[in-house]
Amino acid sequence: MSDAPLILYVEDNPDNRLLVYRVLRAEGFNVETVPDGPSGLEFVENHIPDLILMDINLPKIDGYTMTARLKQRQELVNVPIIALTANVMKGDREKTIAAGCDGYIQKPINVDRLGDQIRAFLSNRPQKKAR
Ligand code: MN
Repeated sequence: MSDAPLILYVEDNPDNRLLVYRVLRAEGFNVETVPDGPSGLEFVENHIPDLILMDINLPKIDGYTMTARLKQRQELVNVPIIALTANVMKGDREKTIAAGCDGYIQKPINVDRLGDQIRAFLSNRPQKKAR
């Protein structure tokens, strides 16, 4: 992998995984996609992503629960977790924030804007503590 930022995308829909993978690779990011929460938890055992994109409607463990679990990990406290979801009911944005998400990108994904959205979230992230 290059030293470009690593984006982890947790998403059960294979079409969305492929779309986001292609768009973000074309934008110069490293991208890892996983289909469910347990796979995401396994991935972060060995890698610290620079940013996590989190689908909300996921099998096994939903995106809210996933976000809460990831944020409990000391090494991920400063890693932005961005909800990527079609949930647009009133209150859904508030639920993602309450779960610990640092931001929200609404589906359908705008492929022309996604790279800029990710870069904006990366540039606003808190400074990581020295290790
Ligand atoms: Mn889903």
